[in-house]
Amino acid sequence: MNPFKKIFQKTKTQQPDQEPAKKYLSKEETEQRNKEFMARFEQVKNLFISSLAAYNAENCPCAYPRFQQIIGIDCRDTGNSFKCFETDLLINLSKAGFDIEKSQLTDECTNEKWTCKKCGSTYEYGWSDFSIYVERQKLKLVHLAASPKGKPAVHPIPLYLGLMGHSYPSKTEITSVDFGAFENYLTEK
Ligand SMILES: [Zn+2]
Repeated sequence: MNPFKKIFQKTKTQQPDQEPAKKYLSKEETEQRNKEFMARFEQVKNLFISSLAAYNAENCPCAYPRFQQIIGIDCRDTGNSFKCFETDLLINLSKAGFDIEKSQLTDECTNEKWTCKKCGSTYEYGWSDFSIYVERQKLKLVHLAASPKGKPAVHPIPLYLGLMGHSYPSKTEITSVDFGAFENYLTEK
């Protein structure tokens, strides 16, 4: 089964710069939207794989503020309920670079302490679900052991895939950009 089918049928998606998302989509519209989303998802996945390889060739991802920013997006920071597709994907793709152990924290459904295998920076990982349709994971930096090398993070945070959930932060926090702009941001141009 298509994993995104349920998402687009049951929840609204954020499309700030396009026409407002309709509440109910026809079967054809849903399928078309799923297809387009999966193509965009693959684009970002490939970009993250090449960006992580570039970060690791020079230092480790921890040294890059824009990496920290994307993996750390957390709806709880703004009191909202959403998943950020970029955050979710980047955490999944980065996971192999960390040693994972039990956390002292208990504020999430799942709490873990992640330590970078290369530099020893530590993070708190959290996963929680807010409803049967919205769950999210976040990775928050606790101690940075690497010297920051990358370009500074900017606000509002530019995202290409964006958010999915029940409530969203304002446009001063998150903005929707095209793939070229997101690629430039991640590759630090
Ligand atoms: Zn590191």
